[in-house]
Amino acid sequence: MEDKLKQYRQKRDFNKTKEPRGTKRNKSQKLHFVVQHHLASHDHYDFRLEWNGTLKSWAIPKGPSYNPKDKRLAVMVEDHPLEYRHFEGVIPQGEYGGGTVMIFDEGEWEPIGKMGKSFPKDMLKFTLKGKRLKGSWTLVHFKEDNWLLIKEEDEFYEFADINTLKRSIKTKRTMEQIARQSKSASVIDGNQKIVENIPITHPDKVVFARPRITKWDIAMYYEQVSRRMMPFIDNRLISVIRAPQGMAGEHFFKKHLDNDNPGIGKKIVPNDKNHKEDYYYIKDVEGLISEVQMNSFEFHIWGSEVDQLEHPNMMVFDFDPDEDLDIGQLRQGVVDLKSILDDLKLPSFLKTSGGKGYHVVVPIKQHMTWRKFRMTAKNIAELMEAKWPDRYTSNVRLKNRHGRIFIDWIRNTRSATSVAPYSLRLRDNCPVSMPIPWRDLYKVKPNEIGLKEALKRLKRKDPWEDFFN
Ligand code: ATP
Ligand code: MN
Repeated sequence: MEDKLKQYRQKRDFNKTKEPRGTKRNKSQKLHFVVQHHLASHDHYDFRLEWNGTLKSWAIPKGPSYNPKDKRLAVMVEDHPLEYRHFEGVIPQGEYGGGTVMIFDEGEWEPIGKMGKSFPKDMLKFTLKGKRLKGSWTLVHFKEDNWLLIKEEDEFYEFADINTLKRSIKTKRTMEQIARQSKSASVIDGNQKIVENIPITHPDKVVFARPRITKWDIAMYYEQVSRRMMPFIDNRLISVIRAPQGMAGEHFFKKHLDNDNPGIGKKIVPNDKNHKEDYYYIKDVEGLISEVQMNSFEFHIWGSEVDQLEHPNMMVFDFDPDEDLDIGQLRQGVVDLKSILDDLKLPSFLKTSGGKGYHVVVPIKQHMTWRKFRMTAKNIAELMEAKWPDRYTSNVRLKNRHGRIFIDWIRNTRSATSVAPYSLRLRDNCPVSMPIPWRDLYKVKPNEIGLKEALKRLKRKDPWEDFFN
């Protein structure tokens, strides 16, 4: 063991880097693997397979590919300690491998067929059981340290374009967020400040009278849900509702930037008339809290992210029931839509709107234009109407509704928004647009989960955990 990690340790100064020295052993029979996206002098992916107490490691410049036709160069590097598979963070500039490391995928692996005591010299066929990387793969040695990583044809091939997956499988953070947070973490070490270093003015201001909820409560709420909420709100253009006098006072919609608070970014966007508008977005928790400080309590998001503005990735179907429709019919609608999405092999996730309905949200991995995205949503709503014409309409006009549910697909239009998961709503009782597991559809009413209940539910398993997988 000492021997195997000798090279690894020689290359690193453990007073300067937070990477592990390597002391742990694996007591279980299972073999682990990890893929770390490593933004150093060269952008690459580190592919590591546990074997005999260390992690056999390769640097893959282009990353693994699900396409069996791609043969990805994998350069073998020094063995890494087993604990390395948990490492996500920043290696200081000037140190070996200086840059940002993000856990791209993790799980178990198994060799296919028998394996001797020492690691094969020519070829290895194996199965990955990760969240993103699955199925059978081959590593082929061709010269010196150079190997090729190839996907075998199986039910998983061409499952996803890996380069579109930009978040940590573990913490859902982007590279930029990992870098920013590691930076503020080192400031904290030095002078003991809180992380979201935003002073909240008028913390005792009552925003909701009943239940009594202050601005401070709201700041604490958003800080606590931020771990779950950030992946759905950060780096998306937003429009917010501000209520400087609380629920009782005037509310403002806001979609343009009026400050340069920390954690907030600005984006100039051409609109359909070829004018430019400057929208803004939240980069991290600090940005979210600085918005709360400005009295933004409700957050609405675009269906795309700023660095892929013209390629949306979150499709929302909103159920707007006619006035006197009962909740049983509303829930049936959600179930009917889910059955259609299941048939189309589209994964879908459920949340309450915090108002009158439910929202069904579909992650879109395929690279598509807004036009195609919008048409896809429209087709699905029309399919519902065609299948059950007495229950659903895809037509927005109220007078066409006749006791039916309008399946609102129109918000899947460029520059349209929907309320973000975990956003509070400025409505009676301070409801939350809350992600819930499918099995809770019949237990939870659309406006039933409020701030307190939302916080309690954070202790349960994350029902949207697999959204970005
Ligand atoms: P309900 O279940 O009560 O219908 P909802 O979230 O589905 O709630 P609304 O809040 O009525 O619907 O919003 C309708 C549309 O208007 C949504 O697409 C929403 O994003 C948009 N909208 C609401 N508030 C704002 C805002 N502040 N800025 C921009 N768009 C907004
Ligand atoms: Mn609605």
